[in-house]
Amino acid sequence: LYDDFYIKSLITTIEDWPKEGISFRDITPIFSDPKGMRMVVDAYVHRYIASDITHIACIDARGFLIAAVLAYELQKPLILIRKKGKLPGKTISQRYALEYGEAELEIQEGAVAEGDNILLFDDLIATGGTLFAAISLLTSQGASIKEVAAIIDLPDLQGSQKIRDAEIPVFSLCAFD
Ligand code: IMP
Repeated sequence: LYDDFYIKSLITTIEDWPKEGISFRDITPIFSDPKGMRMVVDAYVHRYIASDITHIACIDARGFLIAAVLAYELQKPLILIRKKGKLPGKTISQRYALEYGEAELEIQEGAVAEGDNILLFDDLIATGGTLFAAISLLTSQGASIKEVAAIIDLPDLQGSQKIRDAEIPVFSLCAFD
């Protein structure tokens, strides 16, 4: 059974990292705790086992870690959304704004097709900029986003609300102020 208190105890906060004023939520301890890892994966398995998703897409790099196990459990194809320059062959890319500067996400051409019903996974939702770039990439190829899932939501930064406002359901395991 999912235990919110237990999972939150595995998420540590690093102050002033990667820069001054940021409280970074670190999920690394979840990966080094087999009980926590199982609890997290099982929560998503339970939620999506009877859903009509056809694919799982996940974002470089921490998103890969849970989504890969989920894809294995649910026996769904996994789509990798990577940072610029990591995927070989022809790619489709989407630029997005960061707090300072820009970044770019890519998928391989042909990774997504019209009619795919996608569960989009990342580790954490802050401003939602990363997820919106991923949503644009996937929907530009004719896919539908059935739900966005994350481990952590930071609701004060309003990303999850913006995704819901775009009529895409959002599911997170826990939230931090
Ligand atoms: P957003 O684009 O502002 O929603 O930021 C979310 C992206 O930045 C995700 O891909 C996260 O991996 C990363 N991120 C932002 N803040 C944190 C944090 O506190 N802990 C871990 N990852 C973070």
